[in-house]
Amino acid sequence: MSKYRFLIGRRLTQILMLVLYFGANAHGWKMLTGTLSSSTFMGFLPLADPFAVLQMFAAGAILGADVIIGALIIALFYGIVGGRAFCSWVCPINMVTDLANWLRRVLYLDKIERKIWVSRNTRYWVLGLAFIVSIITGVAAFEFISPITIFNRAIVFGMGMSMAIVIVIFFFDLFVLKNGWCGHVCPLGGFHSLVGKYAPLSVLHNAPNCTLCMKCKDVCPESQVLHMIGKKSIKVMDAECTNCGRCIEVCDDDALGFSIINIKNKSH
Ligand code: SF4
Ligand code: SF4
Repeated sequence: MSKYRFLIGRRLTQILMLVLYFGANAHGWKMLTGTLSSSTFMGFLPLADPFAVLQMFAAGAILGADVIIGALIIALFYGIVGGRAFCSWVCPINMVTDLANWLRRVLYLDKIERKIWVSRNTRYWVLGLAFIVSIITGVAAFEFISPITIFNRAIVFGMGMSMAIVIVIFFFDLFVLKNGWCGHVCPLGGFHSLVGKYAPLSVLHNAPNCTLCMKCKDVCPESQVLHMIGKKSIKVMDAECTNCGRCIEVCDDDALGFSIINIKNKSH
């Protein structure tokens, strides 16, 4: 069980949020109303996706104070716990891409040599493009096509044909590119990386305990962030780490753990 403690916690959180949104729409529950783009907690606390809000701003929309406050609350929260904690603990698409990645490992698809190469920085280009298109068209561009929003709305308001984009992402990650969507393309993930760049909470590697088994790298959705494995006792400084905790729970040697202490420059 301890091997899956963070995974179980993440799934429960992701599903709970969908249930609360669904319950608000279908049964009038008040705990969490709206969608991941803009919602209200307990009927009074505004919450808003800062990326969506910035796109709306770029598109020329006039924003209400509650939306701006909601975006600042979310940005502050992820600025502390790590921006991409949104990805691994909240975003519903993460359940789809994690399933595809798990199947890749089970079916040994990772062993097949791939011809396709996509830079992990592509997400930042897509991020910039989303703002440019928002300015030009006057529409929050990524919000318009976002599979995260589509999936969230599909669960809350009922499935639709638009769910096809979620299926495309699943097969893209399964057969075309490992961690293809979340690790390379998604601009919301890229945005959250920037939000959490200086987050005090991150993963700490304890090099003396490490036996170089590489189980952590096998399960990590952003394995490039674990470049220090076996070399130095430092925190994972790369903002693409999702703070999912998978590396910690699969490590049998107690060589990884969450930390809020900055020992960036300390090495062994
Ligand atoms: S990268 Fe995008 S789709 Fe993937 S978990 Fe993060 S926000 Fe969701
Ligand atoms: S380094 Fe660990 S916590 Fe960060 S993304 Fe990889 S598996 Fe998750």
